[in-house]
Amino acid sequence: MTVSLSYDDYDLGSMTWEDAEGAIEDADFAVLPTGAIEQHSLHLPVSVDTLRAENLTRILVQTASDRDLSMIRLPTLPFGYSEHHMTRAGTLTLMPDTYQKVVEELGASISQHGAKRLLIVNCHGGNNAPLKLAGDRLQREHDIEVYLVNWTSYARDQLETRFGEDWSHAGEHETSVTELFHPELVRAEKKEKQERKADFNARQYTWYTDLAVQGGRGDPNRSDAEFMEKVVADTTDRILDALEEDLEQTGDGVHTLEQPS
Ligand SMILES: [Zn+2]
Repeated sequence: MTVSLSYDDYDLGSMTWEDAEGAIEDADFAVLPTGAIEQHSLHLPVSVDTLRAENLTRILVQTASDRDLSMIRLPTLPFGYSEHHMTRAGTLTLMPDTYQKVVEELGASISQHGAKRLLIVNCHGGNNAPLKLAGDRLQREHDIEVYLVNWTSYARDQLETRFGEDWSHAGEHETSVTELFHPELVRAEKKEKQERKADFNARQYTWYTDLAVQGGRGDPNRSDAEFMEKVVADTTDRILDALEEDLEQTGDGVHTLEQPS
């Protein structure tokens, strides 16, 4: 399951055009969850980032409503920029300019239907650069505010305190999240400490497998779904705090530029 077909009321996918007409205009944020389909070592499915985006945004949207922030959830964009993982089967990638364009066009669409703010909740690091550029274009060329949240950035200190430095791709963090939401998809017998081939300081790697033997980092055997459940709750609150702070600072339309004459 990469994109849920059991929609909730807050899902754009559950609405008719008539429902959407009011809901998009009324919502404080239109939320675009962004994931990826890419290799996640031997023990996790290629859909990990998309499953994270799907589940974490559901929790975010539900929690936001307790704070009187209304959000409408767009379908999760399952594909991302994952070219660096193409040496392993199952990875599907869009090129960065294509990906940027896709997000721009989705943002332009939702803006045309009256959305005031687009909140992109990103769950794959490779997407960050093209998402930032898409956000720039959307804000400068369309009447919409863009908020870019890289979910993991808001959880980083808690993950580091618990797991140390090396918990990222297919490691303690992502194994814990997958065990929390979709334990049936984890190949428990294939969990093993991930071996490194190299750790570059300044040099860019060409393919992720230049560095990783199995395809991940850290030690998936140290995963902890129960701990992760608490991190998800805390991180959701932190993201909502950040959004509320931003809303207080900008107010409605304060930073909208007049068109130069
Ligand atoms: Zn991932």
